[in-house]
Amino acid sequence: MTKTIDVQLNAKGITDLRKGYPLILKDTVLNPQVLTEEGRVIRLVDRNWRFMAKGYYGVQNKGIGWVLTRRADEAIDFEFFEAKLTAAFQRRASLFEDSETTAFRVFNGEGDGIGGLTIDYFDGYYMVSWYSAGIYSLKHHVYGVLDKIVDYRGIYEKKRFDTKGQYIEQDDFVRGEPGDFPIIVKENGMHFAVDLNDGAMTGIFLDQRDVRKAIHDRYAEGRTVLNTFSYTGAFSVAASLGGATKTTSVDLASRSESKTIEQFSVNGIDYEQQEIRVMDVFDYFRYAKRHELKFGLVILDPPSFARSKKYTFSTARNYPELLMDAIAVTEKNGIIVASTNNASFGMKRFKSFIDKAFKEASSTYKILEESSLPKDFRTPRDFPEFNYLKVVILQKIK
Ligand code: SAH
Repeated sequence: MTKTIDVQLNAKGITDLRKGYPLILKDTVLNPQVLTEEGRVIRLVDRNWRFMAKGYYGVQNKGIGWVLTRRADEAIDFEFFEAKLTAAFQRRASLFEDSETTAFRVFNGEGDGIGGLTIDYFDGYYMVSWYSAGIYSLKHHVYGVLDKIVDYRGIYEKKRFDTKGQYIEQDDFVRGEPGDFPIIVKENGMHFAVDLNDGAMTGIFLDQRDVRKAIHDRYAEGRTVLNTFSYTGAFSVAASLGGATKTTSVDLASRSESKTIEQFSVNGIDYEQQEIRVMDVFDYFRYAKRHELKFGLVILDPPSFARSKKYTFSTARNYPELLMDAIAVTEKNGIIVASTNNASFGMKRFKSFIDKAFKEASSTYKILEESSLPKDFRTPRDFPEFNYLKVVILQKIK
């Protein structure tokens, strides 16, 4: 076994650690010169070399490692990973039993006790995401545990860290039986086509399950729907199955058209009755305003940052303007679903964007519901910043 190294934290680092903060921040480390090899188990100590916690060294965009245990005598070994994964699987027992939902998250990083690692379940297949070279170097434990505790069809992985250009065409298959993609998963009775071996994304964002259900159950019936930043059209599918009279999906990626047709088709929806537009959302808003188009339900789920040929969009800066565009094309009493996954601001600030947009548009609204990550995306209770998703469903009054 490789020797652990002692990493000294400054007063702020120690205070955060005492409060239960799981992330190790670079600027709290007093002796960074000892951090040489990612994946090393580290002992976090104070100025006087007193033991505080154990973790691992792994560089992500948000920090240089994660706390794993507060117990000096707990080893970071196969048994450690087995205990964390087993507990996480048990927490999702009701989802495993739900025959109407066959895709969800089974391990959510720091929320389940190991930052930098997530595992998603897709009807017998597991997709493991690695967020640093450090955690990736411990992969034998994770795959060993999966071999022992689950009966999988196949395992795929995504390396979500800088591999320094080593991988151009990456095959993400790890072990088991290769999938015949797309496979069709279920979510609250809806169907979604998923491909685990086709780049960074799979075809569906599992963290929006509750929002798809809300749209399907409560907001789509009898409404015309505009779904912006629609990707594979998952919200459009939920709306259509929920009784929307028509959906319009807008995304600038050309592959979004065939992917959206596929999602409609696997749900028995005639895609020719729906509109799919491959174009810039901001151009679509101009077009809609010029033609005085109005919708009963408008969905906004932009990426945190987007750069197209003409526009640069950042949710932290430009969300109010995006909302003003949406307000302009929403019918009186219509619904707006405003979503963001930007972790750099919280719900309070997000709601202030909504307020600002309605004021500037001389319009008024009422919030109908708010939500964040679904239960399977477990986050550390005391640190809302790890619960990055913010969704507000509101009604335009006038
Ligand atoms: N709402 C989707 C996920 C959106 S992912 C869902 O629930 O599945 C973000 C999408 O925004 C990507 O598909 C990307 O192609 C698209 N996108 C980014 N900038 C855009 C722009 N300016 N106009 C249209 N689409 C854009």
